[in-house]
Amino acid sequence: MLDFVIYFGPLEFLACFTLPLLLMLGGGWYWYTREQRREWQRVVSSLPYPAWVFRKEKPLAWNQPATHWRSMKDLVKLSKDVQRRQQHIVRQLYDENAESVSVRGVNVAQNVTLLLMEDTSTTKRQQSYYRNFIRNVGHELKTPLTIIQGHASKVSSSPNDIDGNAASLGIIAGEAKHLTQLVDNLLLIARLEAPDFQLDRVRVNFSALVEQIILDISDLAETRQIGLDLNLQPGLSLIQGDPVQLRQMLLNLIDNALKYTPAGGTVAVSLSEIDDALSCRIRDTGEGISEEDLPYIFEKLYRARRTSTRTVEGSGLGLALVQQIVQAHGGTLTANSTLGKGSVFIVELPIEVAA
Ligand code: ADP
Repeated sequence: MLDFVIYFGPLEFLACFTLPLLLMLGGGWYWYTREQRREWQRVVSSLPYPAWVFRKEKPLAWNQPATHWRSMKDLVKLSKDVQRRQQHIVRQLYDENAESVSVRGVNVAQNVTLLLMEDTSTTKRQQSYYRNFIRNVGHELKTPLTIIQGHASKVSSSPNDIDGNAASLGIIAGEAKHLTQLVDNLLLIARLEAPDFQLDRVRVNFSALVEQIILDISDLAETRQIGLDLNLQPGLSLIQGDPVQLRQMLLNLIDNALKYTPAGGTVAVSLSEIDDALSCRIRDTGEGISEEDLPYIFEKLYRARRTSTRTVEGSGLGLALVQQIVQAHGGTLTANSTLGKGSVFIVELPIEVAA
């Protein structure tokens, strides 16, 4: 005998249909967010720098480099601001070492923000490089200017000292020439480094250029009592380039070889064709460059420490210019040296490709 009655009224009916529906919707939502999280996780994991994805104020995904980040409050605020303004925002935040880092907030979808820490290591290196560079330029300019000022005030304070004043004026002229050269070199480097720089290329007989420079510089070598040898392979191909700059490049290298070689030494210049390039070697039997200095000699304003007490004038810009010119011609520049024995600089320039 049935002693209870199953009552199936409208409420029971609603429960039977809406509960599964709600469960289905909840499951669907859970599945959707899980897939979305996985998708974003895949995106941020492929990035080498710290990255996060926020949905509203909650972190949805982040990559391994981001796990070291401590200050979540700043990120939440940035994410909120991006959503509120509906635009990308780049903000300077501070990492755990109190170092300023740049974080870019990108509005990628409704309520979803991608936060990317930008790679500042290159920028920081560049900033420090340019700070040093400006400091070095300052020093380079200051020394001749101090000398000029000193002699100028000497001349004005003792107008009757004819001999002394003549000597001072000579020094002033020399320092002014040095300053002009320095500024000219700086301007040329800036021009060569400019992203829109275009080389004025014409067909150049590089062999004839080398020969002419050796002729021009032979008197100087003789005055310094340095032997100057030239060895040219006959019938060398022409190259495409700017003859003015190529001349400047060779002059700098040969002048350095003469400067850093004491009297009685030799500078030998040779030119040959190897595969599809011209190879020019400038070898000297001079002071040489230490192993520690060798990697830096092509940097602007770098002057190697010298063991010799002989004073050699220079600004440390010559080789930086040589490197820029060689690179602009699609060539390579290498240096080998042994301290106390001498150096060899090798320039390789591609031969003109026949049309
Ligand atoms: P600088 O005006 O001082 O000569 P460069 O840029 O031409 O500047 O050269 C950078 C440095 O490299 C020089 O200061 C010098 O120490 C070293 N150097 C360059 N060429 C030679 C060489 N042939 N022999 C020895 N040292 C050299």
